[in-house]
Amino acid sequence: METGNRMAREKIFQSSDDDEEPAPFRSSFDLNDEQFDDTLRPQRLCDVVGQRKVVDRLQIMIDAAKMRSEPLGHLLLDGPPGLGKTTFATVLPRELGTECLITSGPLLAAPKDLLPHITNAGRGSVLFIDEIHRMSPAVEEFIYPVMEDFRVDITLGEGMNARTINMQIEPFTVIGATTRSGMLTAPLRDRFVNRLHLDYYELDELAEIILRNAKKLKVQIDEAAADELAIRARATPRIANNLLSWVRDFAMVKAKGVITKQVAIDALAMQEVDRLGLEEPDRKYLQTLVKIFAGGPAGVQAIGHSINVPVDTLEDEIEPFLLRNGLIQRTPRGRVITSIGLEHIGMKPPKNDDQGGAGQSQLF
Ligand code: ADP
Repeated sequence: METGNRMAREKIFQSSDDDEEPAPFRSSFDLNDEQFDDTLRPQRLCDVVGQRKVVDRLQIMIDAAKMRSEPLGHLLLDGPPGLGKTTFATVLPRELGTECLITSGPLLAAPKDLLPHITNAGRGSVLFIDEIHRMSPAVEEFIYPVMEDFRVDITLGEGMNARTINMQIEPFTVIGATTRSGMLTAPLRDRFVNRLHLDYYELDELAEIILRNAKKLKVQIDEAAADELAIRARATPRIANNLLSWVRDFAMVKAKGVITKQVAIDALAMQEVDRLGLEEPDRKYLQTLVKIFAGGPAGVQAIGHSINVPVDTLEDEIEPFLLRNGLIQRTPRGRVITSIGLEHIGMKPPKNDDQGGAGQSQLF
């Protein structure tokens, strides 16, 4: 593996406006266990599973940049959490044999926060900005000439005495990652010449990721067990990894460290991960929609307040999978539970006045 690259990972803090949001209620398979992620993250493009279209396009961009000995054009990666944005962003500099600096939108409140990254960026290096949609407007203004002309405009003094100094910097590549491409302003989006969208994974790809990572974690797992975990991983590699981590612990304590299909099923039942991969927060969302909002339509803010989950978390982590599986619908008047959603949580339509519904024996 490449050793020459400098991988600086800064701690990602929450922005101050999050203070007003309710405390996130985390699933048992926290989507942000960074250390675990880093252990299992593919190091090279050939280690990446799935996302064929993205991999093929990146390979062309890398080859072209190498042939021209020019930096890669700025690249925007968008898609839901846990699908591989950071993975691709950190694989690219390794493939290019260049250094990588890492920061995150919420850390960039003022131009002075971005300045050291830019002035430290060597020719052809990569600056990865995670959650780029959360950069402040002042930083966004500041980054336009940086990305377009590799020029830094610094204003000194104030009022009548203010003057602007222009500084030329080495050409480098900004890789931005976002779960909310719709929140980026058009001028910022337009400065990314390359834009790639990451999509959810197929079952066989998730099973492959689980088998490879079991090997990295030195745990024995059979294919049927990997398939079982894949089914419940909500089409997301990070969730697959986190399920694997729990099942490994369970197997160690209860099954001599060997993960068979039955061990996987028992371990996931203990964590209340149901046969679709829904966890307590997902089911609570659906139950609240029925019990409090009579099945909907209900606004996302109202649902968030009822179950004490920030709207961002609902929109990024909970709703996409429910929508994709037809458990809820998004209508102009709000979210509505579908008959599939009702069936899944074993509840009947609210108008029957029997909201407690049937038991949940089929869930796990
Ligand atoms: P994001 O930045 O989109 O939230 P990450 O890149 O941090 O997601 O991915 C989370 C974890 O999922 C990684 O640590 C890695 O182990 C795994 N992963 C993501 N995408 C892939 C992939 N295409 N192939 C193999 N593993 C992947």
